[in-house]
Amino acid sequence: MKLARLLFGVLVFWFAGSASAAVLEVVPGQPITSLTSHLSLLEDNGGELTFSQIQSPEHADQLRPWTQPSANFGYSRSAYWVAFTLRNPSDRSLALLIKQDYPLIDYLDFWEQGDGGNWQHIATGDRRPFASRPLALRDFIFPLTLPPHSQRTYYLRFASQGAINIGLSVSSESAYLPHLEMEQLLLGIYYGGFLVLVIYNLFLFLAVRDRAYIFYMGYVLSYGLYFGALNGVSFQLVLPRQPWIANEFLVVLLGVTLIFGIQFGREICAGRQLAPRTDKFARLLLFTMIPLTFAAPFFSYRLMITTFTIFALMSCVVLMVMGAISLMRGSISARYFMVGWITLLSSVIVYVFKTFGLLPHNGFTHNAFQVAALIEMVLLSLALGARVNEIRKRGYTDELSLLYNRRFFDEQFPREFHFASRSGTALSLLMLDLDHFKAINDRFGHRRGDLAIRTIGQLIGKYSRKPVLACRYGGEEFAILLPRTSTSEATVVAERLVKKVAELDINGSSLTISIGVASFEQDNFDAPVQLLEAADRALYCAKQDGRNRVFVRSNPPLRSARIEGLVGVHSPVE
Ligand code: GH3
Ligand code: MG
Ligand code: MG
Repeated sequence: MKLARLLFGVLVFWFAGSASAAVLEVVPGQPITSLTSHLSLLEDNGGELTFSQIQSPEHADQLRPWTQPSANFGYSRSAYWVAFTLRNPSDRSLALLIKQDYPLIDYLDFWEQGDGGNWQHIATGDRRPFASRPLALRDFIFPLTLPPHSQRTYYLRFASQGAINIGLSVSSESAYLPHLEMEQLLLGIYYGGFLVLVIYNLFLFLAVRDRAYIFYMGYVLSYGLYFGALNGVSFQLVLPRQPWIANEFLVVLLGVTLIFGIQFGREICAGRQLAPRTDKFARLLLFTMIPLTFAAPFFSYRLMITTFTIFALMSCVVLMVMGAISLMRGSISARYFMVGWITLLSSVIVYVFKTFGLLPHNGFTHNAFQVAALIEMVLLSLALGARVNEIRKRGYTDELSLLYNRRFFDEQFPREFHFASRSGTALSLLMLDLDHFKAINDRFGHRRGDLAIRTIGQLIGKYSRKPVLACRYGGEEFAILLPRTSTSEATVVAERLVKKVAELDINGSSLTISIGVASFEQDNFDAPVQLLEAADRALYCAKQDGRNRVFVRSNPPLRSARIEGLVGVHSPVE
């Protein structure tokens, strides 16, 4: 590969000595062929040369064969003139398409000699209305006809405030159309991805009402539009008649993307709490960028695009640092955030390496940046999900025992009960209370009491993997819900817990618990509250029996349970 490139370089150098660039012979059904190695090029520093001057012998000599594999000039005040020559050796006249790849050229002029010898001029570019294009497509495409047995030279002039990338190719229509269709399909999938992410997260926002979603949607939307502008799609579809707005739009979009990106990052990484110093820097960046974004259309495009490129680099660094700190401080959403950013940054590195020729120019290196941006958006959407989960979990967690709290139990218990009742499975409930806990508080103080609650919380947590649901019901009482567990199985669990707690050593002292067990089996209860009361009564019995034990409420036969209830209703005296 390297050797081939070296040889190619030597050959190109060889030919560079000769007066003009190689003529390209075209054939019927001409495949898409790059014109870069067939170009002659002249840099017009003042940008003031006219077409007739270019044709004068004095300047025609200055059009030198272009010898490098690509013709990218970055930001340049010069105008670039290029010429190439096509020969049609066949007996048929050939319909061909000349395509310029990079659609952000401000002023692009094309000259073609007609059959009568007079020059026809097409003046287009993205600072001119969209209708100036010969074909209404996002790329610049110039159709031409080459008569049989003829050779013609074509001229183009490139001038732009942005980067000047000359990426010309020639092809027959039959080779180009299938390529165009595939390209449209991929673009559709790409922007469809952005759209789906926005809509999906919009619905989530309506449900969750977390403002991080607003920043996320703003970020995805402006990033998508930014790529749309880069690809020339926005100009084509959104603002075909306002080329000036479309051009300023690019800088504003970049600014808005960065603003939303930073706000989103601060929110997701809990920057203010977890990384306050980095957060301060991020805010400083925001306060500079917000007014500049709005002011951007009133300053020179070149100045603004350079400024915002620097802002983009700074934002990347700040967000990476913030994400890393937040990750080290235990944020789960920061994990997704970091993976997303690393994906994007690696693709940027690939892109830069490609631009400097360290990596080959191919479909992967050329599109990695854009594809990675979409992948980043998906990962950030996952980060949002993780964050919502974290917040919800916090709302359902008991601070002291780190088990679920009463609120969660009250929400889940009726659900589990109705599930068991519908599916005909068993559901057991353990009510657990620490024995003589008041005495422990009185003797050793509340701090020691809290430690005991925390230790027992940990122990219960260890024994209650999903689907078991353990919560601190209140004070020193815990409730453990065991789905699909019969009375006998639940009793085994309860007994093991009583034994384990008695063996615990809590700062030198020990402690016991009592557990009441009740189970929903074969429709013995009508409502969750009945099951709860039954377990509570069993707990009371365990205490009565002398504590440090399990009391199982034997299941009353179905009928007597019902009659018990009826009697209660009919005899208010009782
Ligand atoms: P028994 O249950 O065996 O009948 O005796 P007990 O001493 O545990 O009974 P009681 O239910 O009357 O006392 C519960 C005590 O638990 C009262 C309160 O001081 C203590 N307590 C409740 N919540 C907490 C807490 O969060 N931390 C601490 N340290 N103590 C608590
Ligand atoms: Mg107690
Ligand atoms: Mg109690």
